[in-house]
Amino acid sequence: MKKKVRLKKEVKYGFIGIVVLIIAIVFLVQFISYRTSTKYKLKDLGYTTEEVTTIIEKLDHEQVKDILKMEYNQNIVLFLQEKYFIYDNLERYLDYQKENQDKSTSDVVTMVNVNRDRDFYTDTKETDLSLGDLILVNKYYSLPDDYEPENIVKMNLQYAYDDNSIRDYVYDAFLEMYRAAMEEGYQLITNSSYRDYDWQDTLYNNYKTSRGQEYADAFAARPGYSEHQTGLALDITCYNCTNGTFDDFAESEEYQWLLKNSYKYGFILRYPEGKEDITGYNFEAWHFRYVGKDMAKKIYNSGLTFDEYYAYYIEK
Ligand SMILES: [Zn+2]
Repeated sequence: MKKKVRLKKEVKYGFIGIVVLIIAIVFLVQFISYRTSTKYKLKDLGYTTEEVTTIIEKLDHEQVKDILKMEYNQNIVLFLQEKYFIYDNLERYLDYQKENQDKSTSDVVTMVNVNRDRDFYTDTKETDLSLGDLILVNKYYSLPDDYEPENIVKMNLQYAYDDNSIRDYVYDAFLEMYRAAMEEGYQLITNSSYRDYDWQDTLYNNYKTSRGQEYADAFAARPGYSEHQTGLALDITCYNCTNGTFDDFAESEEYQWLLKNSYKYGFILRYPEGKEDITGYNFEAWHFRYVGKDMAKKIYNSGLTFDEYYAYYIEK
């Protein structure tokens, strides 16, 4: 009788022992997996629980691995939360911010996205021509020297000053816009349009000879870097209201009309006021770029310059 009880007791204690052992193993495995987890490693680097959540939410597995190779940097988390954050630019954001401590996180992201952490005409690349009407041409993206758009047609003197030509479908879009403006009593005229490489070369060098390189770079693109070479850009002014110059066009009602309506016809203002740092150009109230109706509407609604929009939505 006694033996049986002892045996039962032994079985009972043995069973409890096994359960305790299993629980201990489970805890140990959990502890080890926690210690080797991304979360733990990030915390170990110095990131707070909130920061860890942000990092894991915004980045993919490979990107998080890269972060683990870097030292703790609170700015990384701030950049991650920016709307237009581009992961491939992260190191450039950090470098640019170091040199520009007065700039906000958001400004740093904007400037780096449009390559303004680099000097003009440095590290330039040939633009991706397969993008058609969405090609970017600026001080960092060039056209091949022998680039010539197709379907260039001469513009009628009713709509343009002498010697203007443009892609045929851009001409059609301009005419549609011209008529709509006319209905509201605004007469537009094109002052400058398609320019080939040699023309741009002459234009740029004339500025350079008379006013120096800095002035030339502020007012004209170097050959190969002008949007006018794409056959997608028009300099538009108002007929008989600016004495043949552009100086007061920004004050005109025609400009206000274009600002509000040009996107409906596929055009965007390419070098807006207050965005000079981003576009790398002085404000040009007259320079409109054709991107097609759908895209023009998207860009207009985004409030971004084409350079910013391109970096985040087209190139990325
Ligand atoms: Zn222009």
